[in-house]
Amino acid sequence: MFSLTRGFPANIRGVGHWASGALVVSISAMLLALRGGIADWLSIVVANVGVVLGTGLWLIGSQMFFGQRPARRFIALLLTIGVIAMSWMTWVHPSVAGRTLCMSALLTLTFGLSSMTMLRFGRGNNPALFVGSMLLVQTCVTALRGMSMFVPAWASIGLFAPDLIQRIYLTTGALMSLTVSVGLLFIAMDRLRNQLEQQSFMDPLTGLLNRRAFLDAHRQERDRTMRTGGLLSLLLIDLDHFKQVNDRYGHATGDRVLIDFANRVAEILPAPRYVARWGGEEFAVLLPRVPPDEAKTHAERIRQRVAQKEDATLPAYTCSIGVTCMAASEATIEQLARDADEALYGAKRSGRNCVQISDHVILL
Ligand code: GH3
Ligand code: MG
Ligand code: MG
Repeated sequence: MFSLTRGFPANIRGVGHWASGALVVSISAMLLALRGGIADWLSIVVANVGVVLGTGLWLIGSQMFFGQRPARRFIALLLTIGVIAMSWMTWVHPSVAGRTLCMSALLTLTFGLSSMTMLRFGRGNNPALFVGSMLLVQTCVTALRGMSMFVPAWASIGLFAPDLIQRIYLTTGALMSLTVSVGLLFIAMDRLRNQLEQQSFMDPLTGLLNRRAFLDAHRQERDRTMRTGGLLSLLLIDLDHFKQVNDRYGHATGDRVLIDFANRVAEILPAPRYVARWGGEEFAVLLPRVPPDEAKTHAERIRQRVAQKEDATLPAYTCSIGVTCMAASEATIEQLARDADEALYGAKRSGRNCVQISDHVILL
């Protein structure tokens, strides 16, 4: 887990805490197992407080992972209580039952809160629900172990005899720490996979589709439309005199104009539509099963909307649009792009800030 975190993108947070938590829990479990063989302060105080620390790190890691505020102070408080209570009940007022009760209370809190975080924020994510459920089981077992100190009746029934609940606790504890560690690993990998998948089809500046994703969408929509013998429309949009925007207002403002443009276009068009950054300050819109007249209307709406100055902090800008439409059977991306590009070139020659339809298209 540690080596994995080193290569992780910085925006996936908390995984380092999970790894540290797993390490601390493992060492503490080892110290607990050496009771009698090593000094009490190690096998009782350090080991018990270590389990609280390890599970607390899991909680903090989970909160960070899901973008919540980590409860560092709360965990520090639990640790302080743990150190004082364990020391007191080892040397001043020795009590095994007292120590068991105290540890059960502290761990019910760390397990319970971790479980709630996972179940609440991990909705729709199987590994998170799995880890959340495992932690919930452990929360219940830990709480029962604590309660068994109070309920002599349980001991007499035998169901929760001290040695039985102890055995259940140790078994689920061992199983839980293993499955939770593996589960956390899966949660982190799942997030990474999602993020990489998103990045692979998104233009990082505008959030629109990149060219590769657009080509995929075109292929799928063309196959679908061909079956019904429908039409595909393509708009190619180029911002006018964009070099001047950069020269006059700076590259950063130029970037903000591109983002502003992307937001406006995405807002205007009805689904299904695919909007991509074709390259630089040029954009492509695929409108499946849309006839040329309608494609022209959409193009005109985009042009008008873009020409309206809406954001006072941005310079006014305009765009030129080339429109084409053809039967899906002919509509390879090369053919569509060539036609739309010719039309766009025509729009630029006609003085910009206008829409031009391809010569090959017959309007009704
Ligand atoms: P025209 O009306 O003929 O399209 O003129 P233009 O200035 O828009 O066209 P030209 O192709 O000469 O310049 C395009 C400019 O777009 C040049 C380039 O610096 C700018 N550009 C391309 N990509 C980006 C980007 O990601 N951010 C910014 N800020 N500018 C970009
Ligand atoms: Mg341009
Ligand atoms: Mg251009």
